[in-house]
Amino acid sequence: MKVIVVGAGIAGLSTAWSLVKRGHAVTLLEQGTIPNPLAASGDHHRIIRRAYGAATGYGRAITEAYAAWDELWGDLGAVHHDPRGFLCVSREAGDEAEEYREGLEAGGYPFELLDAAETVRRWPFLEAETIRYGFFSTEGGALHCRRIAAGMAGWLRAHGADVRENAKVAGVDAVAGAVTLADGERLAADRVVVTAGAWVLKLFPQLAADLVTWRTAVVYLDPPAELKPAWETAPVILDVGGRIDGYIIPPSGGAGLKFGTGLHKMPSADADWNRVAVPGEGEAIRDRFAPPFGRLSEYGIKEVVTCAYTFTEDERFFGTEIGRALVVSACSGHGYKFGAAVGRRVADAIEDGDTDRLKRWLRAES
Ligand SMILES: Cc1cc2nc3c(=O)[nH]c(=O)nc-3n(C[C@H](O)[C@H](O)[C@H](O)COP(=O)(O)OP(=O)(O)OC[C@H]3O[C@@H](n4cnc5c(N)ncnc54)[C@H](O)[C@@H]3O)c2cc1C
Repeated sequence: MKVIVVGAGIAGLSTAWSLVKRGHAVTLLEQGTIPNPLAASGDHHRIIRRAYGAATGYGRAITEAYAAWDELWGDLGAVHHDPRGFLCVSREAGDEAEEYREGLEAGGYPFELLDAAETVRRWPFLEAETIRYGFFSTEGGALHCRRIAAGMAGWLRAHGADVRENAKVAGVDAVAGAVTLADGERLAADRVVVTAGAWVLKLFPQLAADLVTWRTAVVYLDPPAELKPAWETAPVILDVGGRIDGYIIPPSGGAGLKFGTGLHKMPSADADWNRVAVPGEGEAIRDRFAPPFGRLSEYGIKEVVTCAYTFTEDERFFGTEIGRALVVSACSGHGYKFGAAVGRRVADAIEDGDTDRLKRWLRAES
């Protein structure tokens, strides 16, 4: 089959990878470079972890996510995953960290529960009096997104895919199974897979009822010298407790210490809007983390990276068939870790036409 894939974030790259392995002729079109630093998949690293709320179903799906990454590492001949485990810190009864702990318990997944004193003894950048407890699991770490993207683009080219950078799709003719590029060129195929991330509504505005786009930013920090050794060996921190919705990736894969919080995001109808960090933005993100972190004013701001992404209302992943087009948005702020698995599942749906099964899987309902 001839398939055009629009967008080379992790979903598009993985879909192309999986289709090429099955013998299909793939054209992958990316409006920017691969990786594209403005895309959700274009930052240095993303968290993978087993922990999910008990009811979501995504915790179970992590087994498949890891298996798909292992298949990819085998093909690339390189592992772009740092399995340093993950930590959560609870600060209030019923906070998100506690929901994650309950999810691990419900699934029977092992973790180590630590009181506040022991948590701070191991990770001295935390302040004991501000936390209730911490828990650590080995089933998590950091995925090195930019290395993954570069490796996958190289693999695709070496295996005969037509991979085009700076090839912006201006419109999709879903009935015909064709796309028109910004320079006017028209390409046709049997199927078109659209994995355009936060730009999807520019191609399919009618999906605004299902997908909302947001703009956010993360900050890369330079910690005080005495705390650097602790950060170098720390696990990823999936949730810092309380209502901060904060997560942290320690230095990994050549990238620095990164802090991000869901509180910083704002709705944005245009993924290209406000993509240069504004003065003070890094400090504002950093300072949300006190408590449970001390000495934050001593953490220097190294870089602020803006990002645009899509959410569904219930924070599940989304897919829909429109004519010959299959539009997939596996994000809601937590999709990267499933990236390789998403590609395999989309390839299944392209081959057997069972879009409903894909939708159920994307929603972690099967
Ligand atoms: C700050 C932040 C932190 C996150 N943390 C995590 C985490 O720790 N763990 C996790 O699992 N997930 C995380 N996520 C979510 C994760 O990054 C996304 O779910 C995932 O990267 C989405 O990949 P994608 O391929 O669907 O979209 P994208 O990465 O946005 O890729 C879409 C691509 O399509 C291209 N494109 C768009 N329109 C066109 C067009 N018209 N023509 C050609 N190309 C086009 C874009 O340039 C882009 O490269 C986070 C997201 C953000 C923003």
